[in-house]
Amino acid sequence: MNVYDSWRIAAMLNARGMTQTQNVADADIIILNTCSVREKATNKVFSELGRIRDTKKPDAIFGIIGCVARETGATAFHRIPELNFVLGPQSYHKLPAILDDPDTKLFNIDLTGLEKFDEMPQITTAPVISYIPIQEGCNHCCTYCIVPYTRGREISRSFDDIMRDTIHAAKTGAIEICFLGQNVNGYNYTDGNGDTYRLSDLIRDTAKIPEIQRIRFTSSYPTEMSDDLIDMFALEPKLLPFLNMPIQSGAPDVLKRMNRPYSLDSYMEIIEKLRVARPDIQISSDFIVGFPGETDSDFEQTLDIARRVKYINSYSFKYSPRPHTAAALMPDQIPENIKRERLAILDNTLNEIQREFNESCVKKTLTCLYEGADKTGRHLLYRTPYMQQCIVAKPENDVIQPMAQIKITAANRASLRGKIVSD
Ligand code: SAH
Repeated sequence: MNVYDSWRIAAMLNARGMTQTQNVADADIIILNTCSVREKATNKVFSELGRIRDTKKPDAIFGIIGCVARETGATAFHRIPELNFVLGPQSYHKLPAILDDPDTKLFNIDLTGLEKFDEMPQITTAPVISYIPIQEGCNHCCTYCIVPYTRGREISRSFDDIMRDTIHAAKTGAIEICFLGQNVNGYNYTDGNGDTYRLSDLIRDTAKIPEIQRIRFTSSYPTEMSDDLIDMFALEPKLLPFLNMPIQSGAPDVLKRMNRPYSLDSYMEIIEKLRVARPDIQISSDFIVGFPGETDSDFEQTLDIARRVKYINSYSFKYSPRPHTAAALMPDQIPENIKRERLAILDNTLNEIQREFNESCVKKTLTCLYEGADKTGRHLLYRTPYMQQCIVAKPENDVIQPMAQIKITAANRASLRGKIVSD
């Protein structure tokens, strides 16, 4: 979501005649977009801002945006007095004010709505994989999570606005659409006539756009995998057979303290329904290890569920106490060394499962999406329907197929190799 927001901000500055540079010392404006989900990223923000202050041109303006801006608020100006602006996640459209008057300090961390998407200009050339945000914020209160405080309560964008953005992306280069939201499958919009739209409606209409070949969405909350959405996996071949549906932990007691109101049985039932709808579907998850009070046997249960579901690609994190959250105040915080140990064990297990899945793809032919050349320029990088990277030799005639049938010839944990097969 931050990457997408940054694209839109770049488009807004492009429209004012500015161009992008990777070099801080060349820039007239420097914007640090930040994430506060875990402590480590937050800790790096102020040292990075200090570095920018010391490297930038003297009259360049700089500021901080995103969830750390929202979280630190005006104290950011106390820590780095030279800062020109501090903008929370829903006020990026206000940024041009600082260009008009660089002598003022721009400050806005309100969580008011999603006008930013309507007020900022569109990206002129859409990336092949285009993100389209459909909702922001979250009404679930997982006890570890800072998102409800930094992105606010759930707001869904209007169906028409999303479809307008999706069609624009399709007309300007997108082949794959990834709908985004912190609670993406909670998408729920009622228009002026009282008609309600869900994520399944967005998928159905997007699948009708000829340029769009692949559709996916992230991140999903397990109990919001409604039947109309699960049915889409049976009805819409363009919806990829791949779903990120974080379980976080495999221990019922831990899930309860996380305020994640599902049992392992109900979670597995959703997966069964998904597999009935789309037999080749694969699942990925996010995991938190070392949540307060997590015992060795709780952790074993997380390893068990990972092996049972065979998640093909997951994100795993050490629990990190966050401001405003209930879990930060819970007793039995787990020492760092145990968190580190458990993370290493979980990562090993997940890597092994991922390698097995990648190896099981060898000899199969998969329809893949071209993403770009590798650094050497000798290979092309494609994405499989399961979002694995697949490396193929550049064809001698230099003709690149945006979508190609690729026969997988080799695999390791991180990627696949393959050969383009002609139709
Ligand atoms: N549903 C949201 C979640 C964002 S955070 C979304 O995808 O937009 C992404 C992942 O970070 C979560 O699924 C969780 O596994 C992890 N996470 C969130 N808060 C955390 C914390 N306090 N410590 C460690 N990991 C955390």
